[in-house]
Amino acid sequence: MSAVRVLLLGGTGEARALAARLVDAGVDVTSSLAGRVARPRLPVGPVRIGGFGGVDGLRATLRGDDGYDLVVDATHPFARGMSANAVAACGAEDVPLLRYERPGWPPSPRWHVVGTHEEAAALAARLGRRPFLTVGRQELARFTGPLRDHAVLARVVDPPDVDLPTAWTLLTSRGPYTPEGERALVEAHGCDVLVTKDSGGSFTWPKMQVADERGMVVVVVARPEPEPGVQVTHDLDEAYDWVVSRTRR
Ligand code: NAP
Repeated sequence: MSAVRVLLLGGTGEARALAARLVDAGVDVTSSLAGRVARPRLPVGPVRIGGFGGVDGLRATLRGDDGYDLVVDATHPFARGMSANAVAACGAEDVPLLRYERPGWPPSPRWHVVGTHEEAAALAARLGRRPFLTVGRQELARFTGPLRDHAVLARVVDPPDVDLPTAWTLLTSRGPYTPEGERALVEAHGCDVLVTKDSGGSFTWPKMQVADERGMVVVVVARPEPEPGVQVTHDLDEAYDWVVSRTRR
């Protein structure tokens, strides 16, 4: 067993995959989840759940008696608050940090790529009548105003905290999804616009495929820029090697 302790900021399938490989290799890795979803898929190995309490809380966690020597931030590409805190806390505590970010989807010239959820909401309101909204529970409040009178199908993992317009249909479900399932869903609801963020990965790709097939308008919220000053990889093998090479000195 390695003496080097690794904190893996997770909440993604890739983080779970990395945790499994590291545990297998005998690395002392603890996965951290935000505790946002009611029934999270748990990674292999030790898990802690809940926020750290900002940068100061994370700094205290890193240097505590059961502190950490390395941090891998494998949170979702849009989980920018956690990534920023990791950069600040690891910098202040001199703990090596690697950001693993799942690659984005290969862009299509058909997509309307926008920089913010607000732009996505305005565009979807203009370009469609029956949007399929798959931006995540935490972003829904940005869409309720502009899409108040649209027949929105909003799909989320857990129900949102905000009240949704009466014209909307809420669907709670969790991927991975299949092209057959997505086809049946958008047909049943007559969706004419797909709104998504560039989450990347294969779990939620089938909706992109089906939207393309059906000639739906596709509005994609682009990823924010990575935090400056952090080493980033899009390759899970590279992330694994980064950790293992630092635990076997
Ligand atoms: P966020 O806005 O970046 O983070 C907000 C706060 O939540 C952080 O400051 C931190 O609280 C806590 N937090 C986030 N990730 C954490 C983690 N892995 N371990 C412990 N605390 C964490 O994040 P978010 O967008 O709410 O996402 C929360 C989690 O859900 C992430 O782990 C992410 O990987 C996963 N997720 C996000 C999305 C998305 O679209 N945003 C989609 C799928 C999964 P403190 O300041 O108290 O430490």
